[in-house]
Amino acid sequence: MTEQHELQAAIEGLHLRYQSLTDGSVATYIPELGKADPEDFGISIVTAEGRVFETGECRRPFTLQSISKPFTFGLALEAFGDERVARHVGVEPSGDAFNAIELQDGTNRPYNPMINTGAITVTALLHARYGDETFDHLLDRLSAAAGRPLEVDEAVFESERRTGHRNRAIAHLLLNFGVVHEEAERALDVYFRQCAILVTCSDLATMAATLANMGRHPLTGTQVFDVTSVKHMLAIMFTCGMYDYSGEWAYRVGVPAKSGVSGGVMAVVNRQIGIATYSPRLDTRGNSARGIEVCVELAARLGLHAFDCLNFGSSFLKVVL
Ligand code: GLN
Repeated sequence: MTEQHELQAAIEGLHLRYQSLTDGSVATYIPELGKADPEDFGISIVTAEGRVFETGECRRPFTLQSISKPFTFGLALEAFGDERVARHVGVEPSGDAFNAIELQDGTNRPYNPMINTGAITVTALLHARYGDETFDHLLDRLSAAAGRPLEVDEAVFESERRTGHRNRAIAHLLLNFGVVHEEAERALDVYFRQCAILVTCSDLATMAATLANMGRHPLTGTQVFDVTSVKHMLAIMFTCGMYDYSGEWAYRVGVPAKSGVSGGVMAVVNRQIGIATYSPRLDTRGNSARGIEVCVELAARLGLHAFDCLNFGSSFLKVVL
């Protein structure tokens, strides 16, 4: 029998350990999300060269939700350039919940594109440019990042469209301040739809690996995002990706990441690996409870933190991959 790879052993060990963690609860504010199986638990790692390590439930489709946000931000940067995007949305952590109804004093811009105010603004910007084709454009690029055609969960989309009063209020607030254009409702539909794109834990790790690999899909070789926007996507994920847990995440895990309320977490070790976890029970901030623990421990064990004094991460991974 060939010896088990160290990364495979690491994720299997973590899966076993955290299977028994049942803290948190499945999101139900979008009613359709409440149907998720709380026990589902997958961990997947894809290296920047395309090697795959996974364990648990990595084939179950779930919706991207907020994990779509760094990608749409990247598309907006490419379509408009960072100066123009910066006129509409900032890059400061807000320290508040993802759905907080607040804008920056003075400029009336959303704090950053990883919270709902900012993400809806970014999607509205894309909508101003691409109109009815916005969603197809976005889906194409996200599919290229995953390396397969992705689809939408229509039931989740409809469920959020029907009940997303808070996001609707945000869109109208943005309209009031002139941050988004007149077709706020249409842009909001695109936002709900991007949140309802289905991925598996394997897809998510591949998308993370595409970012880790400077925007190039590790297996198909497609250059999905340009390197400058990848730098900005990773920077904003580093400072704002885990909502009001972002500071603590940067402190404890130390790599760019993004989570979503359906239970996915995507983390990127630049130039090395993409990590994804799926477990739908969320903590009070809306982050996957098991996902956080797995990433904290994986980072500690492999030395993945960007400022690890031994810089154990890069050298260790280079040796074991
Ligand atoms: N669609 C969700 C919302 O806007 C996404 C939020 C999230 O994943 N944190 O409420």
